[in-house]
Amino acid sequence: MDALARSVEGLAPTDVLQEAARHVIAEARAVLGPGGAPPSLDSLRAALVDDLMAHGPLREVVNATGVLLHTNLGRAPVAGTGLAEIGGSFRIPEVIVQGGAVLREVGATNCLHPRDLEDVMRADTGLVLEVHPSNYRLVGFTATVPTGERADIAHRHGVPLVVDAGAGLLDERCPWLAGGRPAWLTGEPGVRQLLGAGADIVAFSGDKLLGGPQAGVLVGSNALIDRIRGHPLARAVRFDKVRAAHLEATLLAYHEGTVASDIPFWNLATTPVDELERRAEQLRTAIAELATADVRPAVAAASAGCCAEEPIPDIAVAIHGLDAEAVAKRLRRGDPAVLVTIHDGAVRLSMRSVRSADDARLAAALRSALGCR
Ligand SMILES: *Cc1c(COP(=O)(O)O)cnc(C)c1O
Repeated sequence: MDALARSVEGLAPTDVLQEAARHVIAEARAVLGPGGAPPSLDSLRAALVDDLMAHGPLREVVNATGVLLHTNLGRAPVAGTGLAEIGGSFRIPEVIVQGGAVLREVGATNCLHPRDLEDVMRADTGLVLEVHPSNYRLVGFTATVPTGERADIAHRHGVPLVVDAGAGLLDERCPWLAGGRPAWLTGEPGVRQLLGAGADIVAFSGDKLLGGPQAGVLVGSNALIDRIRGHPLARAVRFDKVRAAHLEATLLAYHEGTVASDIPFWNLATTPVDELERRAEQLRTAIAELATADVRPAVAAASAGCCAEEPIPDIAVAIHGLDAEAVAKRLRRGDPAVLVTIHDGAVRLSMRSVRSADDARLAAALRSALGCR
């Protein structure tokens, strides 16, 4: 048991490792039954690492998947160390109905006209909700009503327009980027522009394009925000100090003009391709004696269901001629865990989603995963 616990030293506090080792050995005994050949230390170690990955403490991860806001990794990377159905089982209409409201969908799937909106307005209509199609696009024969016109219709009927913008792009012009709005953000509405067009409340996530902590952010008219804040349910979803500090630091980066350097998502998203190429070449050299690899153009995505998967130019290191699944598994189990993708039997590491500060650790993790073939 001690040898097993020592073989994963550092993955968790010693007593936690010993307890987990005891558990893994007991399970192996139960499976083998009396008289079975004892399992190797290696296979016990693999079972222990799986156990720790499922139930153990949080570990650092190097994300080499090319998906910048990876939902399974908690979306936006943290600064510092180291009608829609959105995904999972979150459906906005179901949330609204559970809240006790009556939801009336307006228009046809592909077409919405001003008269459609006028037709559903009733004396007891509470608000008009516009939900941004974050993770899909309608193409072909389509028509919609611009936010400004929706706001006018809502206001004529004395109700507010609430826009669920999803990703939290604060301003469509991206004034925080030297080059302005990048091509992959085309079509993503800015919070500032939605408010300017007449939306009374705009809702968005803190950890998508904003680049901060997981949080639901509401901005807009003071009177409406005060009403929401005063609702008894507001206490149940209240905002804790740790998130508040993280969100404030994120917003200050926008205020100070340090977004590209201080917010990890934007730092990753705006790294020039030639810089990615240089880093990829370095990584390829670091593993040259262990594996055949090449550096090639690739595409990354912001994702987390935003920007409808518009491609972001990327550079990848592709490693050939190995059991790709086995290498990917060894990388996942390492410390730091490294997440990669597999294309055409090759292990592929996207440079766009890897922080440059992690390059040396990534090379070391890769060398160790390739060394123990
Ligand atoms: C992502 C998204 C949501 C859900 O945001 P969470 O941060 O997961 O709560 C809701 N609406 C839209 C349009 C989205 O893109």
